[in-house]
Amino acid sequence: MTAPPVPPVALTLEVGAGRLGGSNGRYEKFLPDLAGLYRDADAYQRALEADDGRPVYWVESSHTEGGPGGLITGISVLEPGTVGEEYVMTRGHLHAIADRSELYVGLAGRGVMILDTPSGDSQVVEINPGQAVYVPGGWVHRSVNVGTERMSTLFCYAADAGQDYSIIERAGGMASLVVTDGDGWAVRRNQDHLGYSTGRA
Ligand code: MN
Repeated sequence: MTAPPVPPVALTLEVGAGRLGGSNGRYEKFLPDLAGLYRDADAYQRALEADDGRPVYWVESSHTEGGPGGLITGISVLEPGTVGEEYVMTRGHLHAIADRSELYVGLAGRGVMILDTPSGDSQVVEINPGQAVYVPGGWVHRSVNVGTERMSTLFCYAADAGQDYSIIERAGGMASLVVTDGDGWAVRRNQDHLGYSTGRA
């Protein structure tokens, strides 16, 4: 017997508040959680000393069906700022089931996504309100707030995808850095990047 369908889920995009009404999951990342994320360790230390204790970014998400046919929908919200030359960004990840894809839709602020493949491709794609980015399976991905206001996106991905958050740390960071450049942003090669090892040694 097939289980009956679950009820529909209605969600409210509270963009100004950075909330997803009707969601049932939330996590926050604070600056002390983000050790090793930024290339400039001295700038990170200085930022910690000046930290006001508020979250740097958070995610609110709706989890309904956990199987391969289900979708997780959520919003990710990043405060503006820089650590050294790098803008505030998420830890980033590769899906634990690497072929799972994801759709991001820009809701507010000015953002970019950094996308790398383990085989060496690296791309940076703008995601502003009215723009969407389809992240195919196999791409390591991270959001970056390159503006002066809060930046938020709506995301949706397969409920069984999972996340490998350590892959970027093991690689010495993603292949591309998004850094301040006058009034805007620029992409720079990350000299610390070692390439990705997807297998556990
Ligand atoms: Mn993802």
